[in-house]
Amino acid sequence: MRLHPSLRDTNNTIFLVDKHMVLCDCNDAYMRFACENDGVAIPARWGVGCSIVACLPEIVKDRILDLYRQAQGGRIMTMRYQCHAPHLYREYLMRLIPGQNETVISEHALVIERPLKGAISIDSADLDRRFKDQHGTVTQCCNCRKVRHATGGEEWSWVHPMTLITHPAEGTSNISHGLCPVCLEQLYPDV
Ligand SMILES: [Zn+2]
Repeated sequence: MRLHPSLRDTNNTIFLVDKHMVLCDCNDAYMRFACENDGVAIPARWGVGCSIVACLPEIVKDRILDLYRQAQGGRIMTMRYQCHAPHLYREYLMRLIPGQNETVISEHALVIERPLKGAISIDSADLDRRFKDQHGTVTQCCNCRKVRHATGGEEWSWVHPMTLITHPAEGTSNISHGLCPVCLEQLYPDV
């Protein structure tokens, strides 16, 4: 199964998944996005034939899989989400469009891009002191990449160099992923 040729040449990232959530086809913008996220070439986990489930952040996986299931059932589904570059605030609109044989066309359009205002630049000593909990773990929002302050409250900030980690799966063992209150509200308005 392939994308319609008219979907190839657009700046929106577009890919097609089959009913088993395996990537069947993607456009050039998807290729550029995957390279940007992972550095050099298309790694094995992003290419055609891979399950996209492995790429979904654990904490929003159920929510996103549910949207895909509804799209497989014939409904157009949308979700807004954040995916920042190191110094840019970016919001995307995902549209899931039902295709033939329970395939889904997944389209991701950039809707907001502006400098990441309010980000704090820190060194590793600051990170240890201000953002690590008693176990040495830093909690990062897997949606907006903000980091939770170690004060125990609900204060979250964008922190360089933590914003340089562009994909949740890249996190090292001392990063745990959660959702900040703003993203929790945005992704799970019913909770
Ligand atoms: Zn967040």
